[in-house]
Formats: sequence, structure tokens, C-alpha cells
Amino acid sequence: MNILLASAEVHPYSKTGGLADMVAALGKFLAKAGHRVGLVTPLYRGIQGRFPDLRPFDLPLTVPLGGKMVPAQLWTLTPVAGLTLYFVDRPEFFDRAGLYTENKVEYPDNAARFVFFSQCVAHLARQLDWRPELIHVHDWHVGLVPLLVRHQGWHDAWARPPRTVLTIHNLAYQGIYPAETYSLTNLPWYYFHPDGAEFHNRFNLLKTGIAFADALTTVSPRYASEITTPEFGCGLDGLLRSRRNVLTGILNGVDYEEWRTTDNPHLPHPYSAEDIAGKAADKAALQKEMNLPVRADTPLFGTITRLEEQKGVDLLLGALEEILTNDFQYVLLGSGQQAFEDAFRDLAARHPTKVAVRIGYDGGLAHRIEAGSDFYLMPSRFEPSGLNQMYSLRYGAVPVVRATGGLDDAVVDVRENAPAANGIKFSETSTKALVKGIRKALTLYHSPEWLRHFRANGMKTDYSWKRAVAEYEALYARLLGVPADA
Ligand code: ADP
Repeated sequence: MNILLASAEVHPYSKTGGLADMVAALGKFLAKAGHRVGLVTPLYRGIQGRFPDLRPFDLPLTVPLGGKMVPAQLWTLTPVAGLTLYFVDRPEFFDRAGLYTENKVEYPDNAARFVFFSQCVAHLARQLDWRPELIHVHDWHVGLVPLLVRHQGWHDAWARPPRTVLTIHNLAYQGIYPAETYSLTNLPWYYFHPDGAEFHNRFNLLKTGIAFADALTTVSPRYASEITTPEFGCGLDGLLRSRRNVLTGILNGVDYEEWRTTDNPHLPHPYSAEDIAGKAADKAALQKEMNLPVRADTPLFGTITRLEEQKGVDLLLGALEEILTNDFQYVLLGSGQQAFEDAFRDLAARHPTKVAVRIGYDGGLAHRIEAGSDFYLMPSRFEPSGLNQMYSLRYGAVPVVRATGGLDDAVVDVRENAPAANGIKFSETSTKALVKGIRKALTLYHSPEWLRHFRANGMKTDYSWKRAVAEYEALYARLLGVPADA
């Protein structure tokens, strides 16, 4: 199949969260399965310097944006056979210090930036000589693409336009802007109604995608059903219920070529399920790196996260205060809301032998925390897929999670299935429930047989992309009416 993917972030070129990991892996593994894959993404500041193999792509692109025609230059890169990356270069929009925000403030022209990017995706799809049969877009930034494609198919002589798929990685981010922003799309206003692009008199980019894509997916089966309820639906549960017949949940895979405990350039000491000794050495190295006392017998917990409400960061802060009377260490890597950053810095300052905090973004340290931790804390309020719980399983850091979305799908609690148990789950969104989960982890830590059992189960759990790609192939094939291996 000929498939064009589009995303505002792609690892390792740009990343703020799991979206980047997922899209990069999906592109790579679809290409490895023999499909022709393109992946469109913005050329942000610094990418060209870090990837000097980028080549100019000779396809002039000029797209409408409100009252103007705006040109873009394209650059390409072929990281693996069968996968071509197309970078959209428009310095006015993308040569900036951040992807979406600067100094924690959203860029005021984000609607224009991503309407422009979406137009580029649709125009590119139409002009590529390898003729994509299917466009798979990810999250609100490219939510407009399915409508642009449909509109051109209906009214602009695009014979047989591609089918479209929208994946919702996080329903909480919808790209909602004032109604007049809709005029940036150059589309007729008859799409701007409550069953289309309009959301309470405003323009909603994700909703536009949900209303007009041929198929919808989200990144875990549990989240797919959760978002059709008022509790998790972020105001779109009604529309999602009406589109339930085209909505599928496919749990993200893990790129084990990258997230590996052997031959990993980020890890000082390799280890594996068969030969676990290196993990203790990685723990000691992490304690040293984070200026914690190097103590083999103290249980070490870790978290790597955006510091946002979604991630249950307030619950973490509350639970840590309570649990810190125990022999216990905690390492956090994250950035996000100022108040949370300050609160964690303050906690570390008050408990320097127990809590170490690194505010910022550090891909290498993320690997070292997974490798050095005995347990991984992830008390998310909601979690569309979540990757870190799956990385933790593979790295032998037993996950302690709230049973929601992909956390519930990926982690097996002892009460569900004792022989297969690989983590600890709790249900209630409360500090009390998290404290209880941490206490269970402490008990587990002091029961070496059980700890080995949980860890061994986790390390052999297979969340590879093989399964996820097969599910996407089946979906694409259904849409195109062809066999899955076409
Ligand atoms: P989300 O996409 O909601 O942020 P996921 O668990 O799906 O959550 O994915 C988060 C990804 O981002 C993981 O790969 C995680 O390691 C990474 N990540 C998050 N914050 C940081 C950080 N401060 N430094 C390094 N990696 C981070």
C-alpha cells in the first residue's frame, strides 16, 4: 500500500511526547513490512544542523492561507528503505525556539501554522508521483487534512482522492480557536456547523478530523471506549459515539531497537532478563548521577513525564510527602507547569537524600532512569496509550499505575492474573490510592522471589510494533478494499 503519514512531531527530529515516538515507529515498521511510506512533518529549528543528509525536494508548494498564497520549500530524507520523510520548510512558522510554545506560552499563530501545514500535507499528497492511496494524520495539528482532501475530492477535480485516517493521541488537546480563524482554511463556511468544524461557536481542528476522516483510531482499546463517555470525552463524546463504527483502539508498540537494555549507547551497564546484574550497576550509576546516596538496598522509584495535571502529578506530590518517612528514593525527570516544577524542586531541596529532580528534557537520562529504577510511578488521570509503562516493563522497572487507558491495557496486576503479573494497578484517582500502590511496591521489594517474578514477566512482555503494525495494515486494507499484505 502507498501511505502518507503526517504529524507535527517525529522522533528523533522533534518531540514533546509519545506522539513523536509512535509516528516515527509506525512509519519505520510499515516501511519494513514492505509498504511505500511518506511522512510529512515541519522543519523546525535545528533539524537541518542535526541531520545534514537532508536534501531539497524539487516540488514547488504554494498553498492558500486566508487571503494569501504562501510558499513552502520541501526537504527529504530516507532513514530506512521505503520510508521518505518530507520536511515542510517555512521559517516564518517553524524556525522558532519551541514547537508549540515558548516560555510556556502558546504561540499566538498556532492556528495559522497548522492550517498552513495541513494545506501542505493535502497539496503534497495530490502531487506526489507515487500517489498515496491513504493519508494517516495524527492529532489536532493535522485534523483539518481529512476535510481538505474530501473537499478537493468533491469540488476540485481530485479524482479518487486518498482515504483518510485520523489517530487521536490525546483528546484533551483539540486545537480550538476563534470562529474567524476558520477563514484561514479557504474552505466554504458550510462545513462550519456543530456536526462539522464548529465547536460551541469556535473552530475545532481535532473535531474537524473526527467528523470528516474515513476512519478513526486511538492509541489503546481502553481509551477508545473511554472517550465515548462524558467523563473522558472532552465534550466530543457525542460525536465519537456517533462515529463509533469507524473508531478502533490500537495499543501503541514499543520500538525495541531503540528501547533496549543491551547495546544501548545511553546505558553504562547492559543487562537482560537472563543476566540482570547490570541493572544494579545502572541503579548505582543513576544514584550517583542524580546525587543520591548510592545504596543498593534502598528501593528506587522513577518517573519521566510532562508535568501536567493529566499525569497525576499532584497525586505524586501528595503521595511522596507521605511515603518519604520510609527508606525510599525517587528520581523525576520532567518539565511543564511552573507550579509543578517548583513543587518538585522544593521537595528535592527538603529531602536531598531521598528525592532528586531534573527539570528539563533529556532523552538519554530517560533511558538511565528506566534502567536504574526498581519501580516506575505513573498515576495518570487518563492515559491514551502511555509509553513509559511499556518501556519500564522491558527495563525491569515494575510499573505502579492507575488503571486507565493504555496503562490498564499494558499492565497486569496480581489480582487479575498472578502468574502473569508484571505491575501494580490502582483504580481511584487519589493520593491515598497511590500511597497504597507504593506501599505494595515496597512490600514487593522486600519479597525478592516475587520481585523477580514480576520483573521477569515484565521484561519478557512483548509490545513490539509487529502486532500494532499488523492491526494498522488490517485497518488500511479494509478501507482500501484490498488484502492486508497488498
Ligand atoms: P505523553 O505522550 O502523554 O507525554 P507517553 O508516555 O505516551 O506520554 O510518552 C512520553 C514520551 O516522552 C516518552 O518517550 C518519555 O520518555 C518522553 N518524555 C517525556 N518527558 C520527558 C523528558 N522531560 N525528558 C525526556 N523524555 C521525556
